[in-house]
Amino acid sequence: MKEKLKQFMIGRYGVDQLGLAIFTTTFIVAILGLFTRSIILTVLTIALLVLFYYRSLSKNLYKRQQENFKFIRFYTPIQKQLNIYKKRFKERKTYKYFKCNHCHQTLRVPRGKGKICITCPKCKQELHKRS
Ligand SMILES: [Zn+2]
Repeated sequence: MKEKLKQFMIGRYGVDQLGLAIFTTTFIVAILGLFTRSIILTVLTIALLVLFYYRSLSKNLYKRQQENFKFIRFYTPIQKQLNIYKKRFKERKTYKYFKCNHCHQTLRVPRGKGKICITCPKCKQELHKRS
């Protein structure tokens, strides 16, 4: 059985980052569909599953790779922004973030220091804030 599956998968694309994103989206949509009992979400879940399997079992490797590159190009800036939010959330008890009024540079200062004068490292503008 395992050998048959191996033989079947030879020359097929498999799962990549886009495939994982489709699968994750399918999972989320399926759970939402369970709670809302929406027929649209059920149809969408099935469509996403079909797309996931179509891409995974496809033998047109070049086209699947191009789709994956497009997805990565689209998703990388979003992922960077999400990582910034994640980092800020982790540090929310030790640091406070401000934006420079002049150049919009993000400034990080330690919390609990009272009223402080912050000098922007980029444009040297001074801000008076409570940390
Ligand atoms: Zn500035």
